[in-house]
Amino acid sequence: MSDCLPIIAIDGPAGAGKSTVTKLVAARLGLLFLDTGAMYRAIAWLVLEANLALDDELKIAGLVSQAKILLTGAQVVVNGVDVTEAIRTPEVTSKVSAIAALGVVRAELVKQQQAIGAMGGIVAEGRDMCTHVFPDAQVKIFLTASAAERARRRQQDMRERGQGEVDLAELEQSIAKRDLIDSTREISPLKKADDAVEIISDNLTIDEVVDRIVKMYQQVSIQ
Ligand code: C5P
Repeated sequence: MSDCLPIIAIDGPAGAGKSTVTKLVAARLGLLFLDTGAMYRAIAWLVLEANLALDDELKIAGLVSQAKILLTGAQVVVNGVDVTEAIRTPEVTSKVSAIAALGVVRAELVKQQQAIGAMGGIVAEGRDMCTHVFPDAQVKIFLTASAAERARRRQQDMRERGQGEVDLAELEQSIAKRDLIDSTREISPLKKADDAVEIISDNLTIDEVVDRIVKMYQQVSIQ
């Protein structure tokens, strides 16, 4: 690992602002940005397209082993289809956690994520970056915010994306449901790694969060 560029690993629950922060940190430092949630969403999209039962592990295993996921900047392409927008629909969002809990799905995607990060120089965000995928990352962050704040931000996101007006209580409920599945699943559940730095972003601006992480990276890269 010592010959490689450092890795920044960012975990946290839904709606904590991980994607926005990760993209900005990567741009500031000239690093690659890895949105692992987009990979799980792409598989969920494939499962829904193929009309498979969410617990049909055998059929889903076949699908995952054939899936070619390409992440280029913000664009997500799976098996040649641009699914950048399609993986953000409420339908995919409500099903993705069940699919991400399956061992066959995690095994394949973790392998691909570790291959992408093998040379370092990436900012990777997800639920198990610090605890499982990149346990040796030089900078480890657990980015979170209160459930109410996360629901409010998600509502604003959806509004900006033209997905209409969604009730705040409904959003809070769906975020809580996803967090529960993500943090209680058997394989690599969402939790703060013992050595990760927790950032609670309720009262911080995006720039303040980004600055903090950039400073942590600069400290480890001059050592
Ligand atoms: O980050 P995002 O909300 O796009 O992630 C979608 C879902 O993918 C999460 O709710 C979680 O179920 C799953 N996920 C995961 N492990 C990761 C990243 C995402 O299980 N590293």
